[in-house]
Amino acid sequence: MSFTLEKRCAEDLDLKDELRSCREQFYFPHEEGKPYLYFCGNSLGLQPKKTPQFVECEIKKWQQAAVEGHFTGERPWMDYHEFLTENLAHLVGAKPIEVVAMNSLTTNLHLLMVSFYRPTSQKNKILIEKGAFPSDRYAVESQIRFHGYDPKECLVELVPRPGEYCVREEDITEVIQREGKNIALILLGGVNYYTGQVFPMQKITQWGHEEKCTVGFDLAHAIGNVPLQLHDWQVDFAVWCSYKYLNGGPGGVGGAFVHERYANDPSLPRFCGWWGHDKSTRFTMPDNFQLMSGAEGWQLSNAPVLSMAALIPSLQIFADVGIPALRNKSLQLTNYLEFLLRNKLQNQLEIITPQNPHERGAQLSLHLQNGGKEVHKALLENSVICDWREPNSIRIAPVPLYNSFQDVWDFVKILETLLLRGE
Ligand SMILES: *Cc1c(COP(=O)(O)O)cnc(C)c1O
Repeated sequence: MSFTLEKRCAEDLDLKDELRSCREQFYFPHEEGKPYLYFCGNSLGLQPKKTPQFVECEIKKWQQAAVEGHFTGERPWMDYHEFLTENLAHLVGAKPIEVVAMNSLTTNLHLLMVSFYRPTSQKNKILIEKGAFPSDRYAVESQIRFHGYDPKECLVELVPRPGEYCVREEDITEVIQREGKNIALILLGGVNYYTGQVFPMQKITQWGHEEKCTVGFDLAHAIGNVPLQLHDWQVDFAVWCSYKYLNGGPGGVGGAFVHERYANDPSLPRFCGWWGHDKSTRFTMPDNFQLMSGAEGWQLSNAPVLSMAALIPSLQIFADVGIPALRNKSLQLTNYLEFLLRNKLQNQLEIITPQNPHERGAQLSLHLQNGGKEVHKALLENSVICDWREPNSIRIAPVPLYNSFQDVWDFVKILETLLLRGE
C-alpha cells in the first residue's frame, strides 16, 4: 500500500476500509457537540453504544429479581464470567478452559506468581524489561521479597543498547541463555506500554523453556491489539486488563490465561477462594476445597457482574470483526501515521516505536525535539486526546476499531501547525 501526503489519500483509504462502520458503534468524547480526535484507546478504550444497555439489564434485574437474579434471566449472575470466556479465549488464542475473567490485572499477576514463581536457592531470579510498567515491577519486587530474596540480586532487566529504546531480539536470547540457569520466571509485557514494542512471545517462551524458566506475559497492551496464540506458543500464564484496547470501561474486570497443561495440577501452590472450588458442590459449603479445572481454579470471588456486563458488547464487536481483519487495518493505520510523521515532521520528532510493523501494534511513541509537555497540552486545546508519559513521550494510538485514516490525517495536520508555529 502506497500513501501520499494529500488529504485525498486518507479519504480514499477510509472508503476502502471494510471496518469503517465499526466507528459508529462507539461514543466519542466531545465538547459542545464537537468530537475530540481520540488516540488514547491504549489507556482507556471508548464506550460501545451498546454498553449502557447491557449494564442497565443487570441493574434492572437487581431491582426486579434481587437475589433470584443469580439464577434467572438471559445471563444468570451465578456463572456470569462464563459469558466472557469464549470471546476472551479467541482474543488470546487459547482454549476456553485456559482463560477466565476475574479481578484486576495486578491482582491476577500476584495470584499467578504465587503459583508460577517458585524460587529455589539456585533458580530464583525474575527477568523483566527495563522500563516495565511500574505496577508490574512493584508486584515482582514484592514477590521476590515475600520469598525472602533481595530484588537487587534477583531482578534481572532486559536493557536496550545505549542510544536505543527497544530491546533487540538477539539481546533477549543472549540474556536468557546467560542468566537462564538462575531465572525462575520470565515476565514481560506482550507489548511494552511505553515504546509500543511487541515482544516475540513465541520465541521468548521457547528460549525460556529451554532454560527451564517459567514464562508469563502481561498482555495489558497486547490483548485486542495484536494477534496472540498463547496456547500454541506454550506460554505458561498471562494476565490482562480490559479497559485499554478491550473497551471494558474504567477499572474493568481483568483476565488470566493458564496453559492447559496446568488445568488439573493440584500440586501448584495457590491462594484459594470459594469461586475456585468445584462449582457442582460449591453451595453445599464443604470444608474441603475441591479445585476446579483450568484457569477458573484461580478464581477467588463471585463475579463482578456490572463490570463484566460492560465488557460483553465490546467482546462481541471483536468477535464480529475478527482479529485478522482488525490487525490488517491496524497495520495500515499505524503505517499511515508513521508515513505522515516521517514525511512532514521528520526534523521535529523521533519515533521510538520499532519501525518494523510486525514489532509494533496500534501505537507510536514520539519524542519531540522541543517542548513535549506543552505540545501535549496544546493538542488537547485543539481537541486531540492523546497520552503524555514522563519524561518526554507522547503516545498516539490509532485504534483500528474506531479510528479512521482521516483522524490520523487531521491529527498530523494539527501537530504540524503546532510544531511549526513554535519554530
Ligand atoms: C495498564 C497496565 C497495568 C494496570 O494494572 P491494573 O492492575 O489494571 O491497575 C499493569 N501493567 C501494565 C503493563 C499495564 O499496561
